[in-house]
Amino acid sequence: MTIASSWIDGAEVTTGGQAHRIVDPATGNDVADLALATPADVDSAVASARAALPSWATATPAERSAVLAKLAHMAGEHSKQLVAEEVSQTGKPVRLATEFDVPGSVDNIDFFAGAARHLEGKASAEYSADHTSSIRREAIGVVATITPWNYPLQMAVWKVLPALAAGCSVVIKPAEVTPLTTLTLARLASEAGLPAGVLNVVTGAGADVGTALAGHSDVDLVTFTGSTAVGRKVMAAAAQHGHRTQLELGGKAPFLVFDDADLDAAVHGAVAASLINTGQDCTAATRAIVARDLYDDFVAGVGELMGKIVVGDPHDPDTDLGPLITAAHRTKVAGMVERATAEGGRIVTGGMAPDLPGSFYRPTLIADVDERSEVYRSEIFGPVLVARPFTDDDDGIRQANDTEYGLAASAWTRDVYRAQRASREIHAGCVWINDHIPIISEMPHGGVGASGFGKDMSDYSFEEYLTIKHVMSDITAVAEKDWHRIIFTKRSGAES
Ligand code: NAD
Repeated sequence: MTIASSWIDGAEVTTGGQAHRIVDPATGNDVADLALATPADVDSAVASARAALPSWATATPAERSAVLAKLAHMAGEHSKQLVAEEVSQTGKPVRLATEFDVPGSVDNIDFFAGAARHLEGKASAEYSADHTSSIRREAIGVVATITPWNYPLQMAVWKVLPALAAGCSVVIKPAEVTPLTTLTLARLASEAGLPAGVLNVVTGAGADVGTALAGHSDVDLVTFTGSTAVGRKVMAAAAQHGHRTQLELGGKAPFLVFDDADLDAAVHGAVAASLINTGQDCTAATRAIVARDLYDDFVAGVGELMGKIVVGDPHDPDTDLGPLITAAHRTKVAGMVERATAEGGRIVTGGMAPDLPGSFYRPTLIADVDERSEVYRSEIFGPVLVARPFTDDDDGIRQANDTEYGLAASAWTRDVYRAQRASREIHAGCVWINDHIPIISEMPHGGVGASGFGKDMSDYSFEEYLTIKHVMSDITAVAEKDWHRIIFTKRSGAES
């Protein structure tokens, strides 16, 4: 199947960029072929978004909401197609795409269709006796968005929908390995009535198309989801023009198990939260930090449950764990596991690739890792959980916070005071209590520290896409205002 390289100004566009194959990571088979977009296509897409902006930004909230509600409905109707595209380009298990990625994306679109009509602000009032002040919340303008490959549809929806709901126009560059569902989203939006140019997609690699988009002079905001290293480059590119950025970056989530926790719940939670999407999840549990008294039982329980995980064909509904995104990524994961054992870590289960074609890696638990080791400190983005014991609550919280990242964390305890302390003291954008992973459209997602800044999902994400304008109107109709005497003492007409 040959697909278009871009969606610009409401239509498919194919230009002469580099030939590129979309590959099913479970089999290595071709899924689609395309000529990638070029930096010249980025210019066309940005020009199209700029031209479409005024009428979309001034459409009423009800008009915008109607289009987005129709898009939610159409995305729901096209769920099977979206699932098939997502599974074949990412290798994620069909159960995950069917029960998480696609319905979650549809719900998020639906949420923003409603939220478009619920913008709130400070009351218009006379904060000074002589003026009425009011607040206008206006679309920031043209938004450039760059997204990763792990949840291609969800990551696109999280960026695009609040922007559209706020009245912005968008140019999005999906990861070059996973453009299919983002292109489908744009097509469906057009069929739902989104005016041409309001949403544009350019496929392409980070080095040329991504760089051109992040550093484009005619965008107003750059939003990015991806690694911390690339996020910093994107921020630097946008800074050349003083453009605002929003960055959702990497994570290294702690999974903190206190000694009063429900062990069975913690074991099941740890396996689910570390293996979701083959561990290619920025909020995945990666560092199990477990009270010394429970440590051995926790490690044994997680190791046993991980050993039962079904690894294989992602199209089979009985499969639990699909492949990693590429062979190169598997090599990176395997290298980190090897170095972890060289640094004293103990492999409890996994630590190798199964005998399957495709870039698979077995669920892996590494116990007793050193706090300084690479596998404990760096994002691995694979089905690998590492574990360490802690001595007392202070030590547990200290270890949880011993990371440059701050995206997500969980604390497992039946003690309400410990739960409150953990939620207060752990530095992260989200702290789950007795669970780890669930997300909902109404609540924000976004990190601190090396995990970035700004929010996706929820009403809070509107803050990224809107500017706040203060309008202050004189209500006295007096020419010589009292405050003028601060600036000049002699009034006009008083000199003669
Ligand atoms: P990545 O940073 O390699 O790539 C992300 C996107 O940036 C891709 O579209 C890529 O083509 C583009 N890109 C690469 N170099 C660029 C450059 N110089 N200029 C502009 N764009 C460039 O990330 P990835 O490997 O696609 O995704 C995995 C990473 O994403 C992990 O670090 C993960 O934690 C992170 N992530 C974070 C969140 C979150 O919400 N915080 C969600 C999902 C993924």
